[in-house]
Amino acid sequence: MKLALMSRSSKIYSTGRLVEAAKERGHDIDVIDHLRCYINITSNRPSIRYQGENLPKYDAVIPRIGASVTFYGTAVLRQFEMMGVYPLNESVAISRSRDKLRSMQLLARKGVGLPVTVFAHKTSRADEIIKMAGGAPVVIKLLEGTQGIGVVLGETQKAAESIIQAFGGVGSNILTQQFIKEAGGSDIRCLVIGDKVVAAMKRTGKEGDFRSNLHRGGTAEQVKISPIERKTATLAAKTMGLKVCGVDLLRGNQGPVVMEVNSSPGLEGIEKSTGKDIAGMIIEFLEKEAKPGKTRTRGKG
Ligand code: ADP
Ligand code: MG
Repeated sequence: MKLALMSRSSKIYSTGRLVEAAKERGHDIDVIDHLRCYINITSNRPSIRYQGENLPKYDAVIPRIGASVTFYGTAVLRQFEMMGVYPLNESVAISRSRDKLRSMQLLARKGVGLPVTVFAHKTSRADEIIKMAGGAPVVIKLLEGTQGIGVVLGETQKAAESIIQAFGGVGSNILTQQFIKEAGGSDIRCLVIGDKVVAAMKRTGKEGDFRSNLHRGGTAEQVKISPIERKTATLAAKTMGLKVCGVDLLRGNQGPVVMEVNSSPGLEGIEKSTGKDIAGMIIEFLEKEAKPGKTRTRGKG
């Protein structure tokens, strides 16, 4: 196969591993920095110009789009789809997963377990918002935050009110969420490929931090998940329409709750903690699935 890997740099662990895995399995793969692509939107003849030339015809594209460049990255991916290239994850599914509120509404619709979550535009009645989320302590998050930045614990009623009002004051969209204390500062990252959880790790935050993000200094270890956790993760992936993703669960008293679904899951933590060749599994998945023109949306909406 001839593969395109959308990534800002070949030096990123996940990018390097995907290139390595593709070559090992006998494929051609080009790393394409989506921010350097020019999109040519001519009727019926969509093309992408890169480094002064039109991109060749690829069999499949692996999007790895950072949260800060979702807008342009998904536009480039949409262009690939219009050209009939099979996307590992479709642009619509990626856009959908980047909005925490939209994701949670879709997951709730399918009955996926979620923490009690409140969204409000006006923050003048912060006390009401906190009450709806079950009372302090509550977790307050920026709608489009990532890597644990913009996730704050409002430990007391007063603290939570101030945080909500502060975010409201600068015009940021936020979610207020029941704090799952029993998770003990850990979460479970389930790596889904197709309709299967192929690996799972437990991430634990730095001492004194309730956020388990590896970017915030958390540590990871392989974990065995229960059948219900497995089912929750695969249902979440399917609901979001993502073929490859990281589903983050918290172990709550009432069972697993989904915190978020990540459409460009990092491979380093999961490969190193589980010893599994996730990059190889992703390429293998493409070998089975990527048929020319087999994109459902072909760049639609
Ligand atoms: P980000 O997109 O920035 O990673 P998350 O929603 O995943 O934001 O939150 C970051 C971390 O904070 C999670 O991995 C988890 O450890 C912790 N966390 C988030 N929400 C809750 C919650 N409602 N209860 C307990 N811990 C939470
Ligand atoms: Mg997270």
